[in-house]
Amino acid sequence: MKLGTLAGMMIWMASAAAAQTGITVMLSNQAHVPAAMLTEAQRVAGRVFEDAGISVTWIDCARPEFQAGDGHCKETGDPMVLVLNILTKDRREAGSSGAMGFAFPMLGAGTHAAILFPRLKQFADSYVDIPGTAALLGYAIAHELGHLLLKNLEHGPGVMKAGWARSEYVSMCRGQMGFTPAQVSQMHSGLRTRMQTLMARN
Ligand SMILES: [Zn+2]
Repeated sequence: MKLGTLAGMMIWMASAAAAQTGITVMLSNQAHVPAAMLTEAQRVAGRVFEDAGISVTWIDCARPEFQAGDGHCKETGDPMVLVLNILTKDRREAGSSGAMGFAFPMLGAGTHAAILFPRLKQFADSYVDIPGTAALLGYAIAHELGHLLLKNLEHGPGVMKAGWARSEYVSMCRGQMGFTPAQVSQMHSGLRTRMQTLMARN
């Protein structure tokens, strides 16, 4: 049995053991990522979380009822509702150099993350033979939301790997990268805490 298959099985077992739970992601597409690419990226990220037993409901902050102005998402304060901004500016002060995004797991309810689309595009464009910008965006989204759900900025194997190169990019395009069983378990534990926070507040 190939290691990848075994890891896949372990992830499946970890997700089967955990009760299916869901998060909502409010997404602000400030970088004007083309709709087809964004839809595919959401499908990829959604499947990565689905494999971890976490369903994702996407909300488009372009819709007036979810918009706070300037294209930003209306704040809900709900720890089960994450906010993801896809930024058009290359904010060099944000994250490590070359990072495609950043997250604030320790700030407030730990609900804010962003993708630096120009850097992501630059990475994708450096591999002209791999047509996978949408998959890359999907995995970058899964990575940053992963930081929020894991409640840390640590890196590890799979989706949470720090630096991505050709081999990771190829794995993404094949849909072969996921969260490890330990990460899955930690995310579910974090989600239970978020749920308790929400219930205690209501
Ligand atoms: Zn990271």
